[in-house]
Amino acid sequence: MSEKIKNITSKEFEEEVLKSGNVVVDFYSTECPPCEALASKFESLSEVYGDDVKFIKIFRQENKELAVSLGVTGSPTLLFFKNGEMVGERLSGGIKRADIVKNLELLISKERAETLKNSLKKSETNCDVLILGGGPAGLTSGIYSAQAKLNTIIVDKDLPGGQVKVTHMVWNYPGYEEPISGYMLMHNMTEQAKATGVNFRSAVDITWIDLVNKSVEIDGVETIRAKKIIIATGSSPRKLGVKGELEYKGQGISYCATCDAKFYEGKHVVVIGGGNSAIEEALFITKFASKVTIVHQFDKLQANKVAQEKALANPKIEFIFEHEPREFVKNGSVVNEVLVEDLRTHEYKTINCDGVFIFAGMMPNLDDFDNRLTLDKWGYVNVDANMKTNIDDVFAIGDVAGKQFRQITTAVADGTVAAITISKELE
Ligand SMILES: Cc1cc2nc3c(=O)[nH]c(=O)nc-3n(C[C@H](O)[C@H](O)[C@H](O)COP(=O)(O)OP(=O)(O)OC[C@H]3O[C@@H](n4cnc5c(N)ncnc54)[C@H](O)[C@@H]3O)c2cc1C
Repeated sequence: MSEKIKNITSKEFEEEVLKSGNVVVDFYSTECPPCEALASKFESLSEVYGDDVKFIKIFRQENKELAVSLGVTGSPTLLFFKNGEMVGERLSGGIKRADIVKNLELLISKERAETLKNSLKKSETNCDVLILGGGPAGLTSGIYSAQAKLNTIIVDKDLPGGQVKVTHMVWNYPGYEEPISGYMLMHNMTEQAKATGVNFRSAVDITWIDLVNKSVEIDGVETIRAKKIIIATGSSPRKLGVKGELEYKGQGISYCATCDAKFYEGKHVVVIGGGNSAIEEALFITKFASKVTIVHQFDKLQANKVAQEKALANPKIEFIFEHEPREFVKNGSVVNEVLVEDLRTHEYKTINCDGVFIFAGMMPNLDDFDNRLTLDKWGYVNVDANMKTNIDDVFAIGDVAGKQFRQITTAVADGTVAAITISKELE
C-alpha cells in the first residue's frame, strides 16, 4: 500500500478525519470485489493528491458502529471531508476514477487541481490478450487464455459479471441441478478467472480504442497494448424512444426486474414487451407486485411456450395486446400513468400504475468503437467460425457478435473458441 494511505480505526477517526483539513475515507471490507476494483484507483490517486488530501482507509467490519453512525451501509463507500464537514458525493459500489477525482477537486483550489492534473503521468501496459467486457463471454475467454499462459487483461466499464449478475435466477446453465442466482454464477466465474491469473481493470472509463493498433486507453491514464483484442461488450436494453422514457429512468422507469421489482411490493406495474425477457421478468415481478399489466404490440406473445403458459395462467397478470406506449407521465415523484395507443383503432387510453418495466429487446454495446468493424444488418459484429472480425487479430464474442441465439452457454462457447484460436496463433 502507498505510504500516502493510512489505515485507521474508529478511535482515531476524530483526530485523523474530523480535526484534519482535506480527507477522503474509504470504508472497505475483505472478500469484496468492488473494494478490490477500487484499491488500485485509490492507491494511484493518493500518489497524485496525497500531499493535499489525506487518504484514509477504515476496515468496515471491525468499525461497524462508526460506519453505521455515518450512514455507511455497504463496501466500499468513499466519504469526503473538509475541515470536519462531509462534502461532495458519497460514492459506493463500482466506483469510477473520474468520480473520485471530481470529489477530490472539491477539496482543493481550482488552480491546484489544474496543476495536479497536468502533473499526471500516464502508464503503459503490454499484454498478450486484451478482453473488453467481463460478462460470461469475456470471463470464459480470460480463463482459457490465462490457462494457456497468455498474459490476459479484462477491462470492464462496470464490475465484472455482465448482464447475468443482475439476472435473478438462472435455470439453464449446465452443472446446477437447482437454479443458481445470476449473481453467484458470475461471482464464481470471476473468481475462477482471477485464480487462473487474469488481471482486471474494473469500473473504468474507456478513453479511446484503437483496434487496428490493438491499444486501448482507460481512465485517461493507462494505455494497454495487446497482441490480440477480444470484444465481449454484450448488449443493452433497447430504448423505445417514447416521451418520458429517458427523463424518468430510475423514477418509475426500469429495465431490470432483479434490481427494482422489490420496490413494487403490493403495487401495480406495467410491463412493456411480449418476448422471453418481458414474460419471464413479468412473472418475477408478480412475486412483489399485486398486479402486472403487460402491454404488447402484437396480438400474441413471442415468448417461449413454457413462459407463455405460466404468464397466461397467472391471476396477477393482465394483457393489453396490439397497443404501444406513447408517453410515460410522472405526476408525483414517480411515473404513474402510461398513455397507450390502440394500434387497430388509433385511440389513446391511460393506464394508471406505480411504475413501468421496459423489455423491448437488446442492442449491441459498440458505442466506444469506430466504424471500421463490419456489422450485420442488425448492428451486431460479423464474425467467422473462429470468432474473428474483419480487423486482423480482433475477435468478437458473446451477445455483441452476430448470431441467432444469445444465451450464457452460447457466450461461453464463443469465448472458448476465440481463446483457443488465439492460443494456437500465439504458440
Ligand atoms: C433479463 C435477462 C435475463 C436473462 N436470462 C438468461 C438465462 O436465464 N439464461 C441464459 O442462458 N441467458 C440469459 N440471458 C442472456 C444472457 O444474459 C446473455 O446472453 C449473456 O449475458 C451474454 O454474455 P456476454 O458476456 O456476451 O455479455 P454481457 O453479459 O452483456 O457482458 C458484457 C460486459 O461488457 C461490459 N462492457 C460494455 N461495454 C463495454 C466497453 N465499451 N468496454 C468494456 N466493457 C464493456 C459490460 O459492463 C458487461 O459487463 C438473459 C438476459 C437478460 C437481459
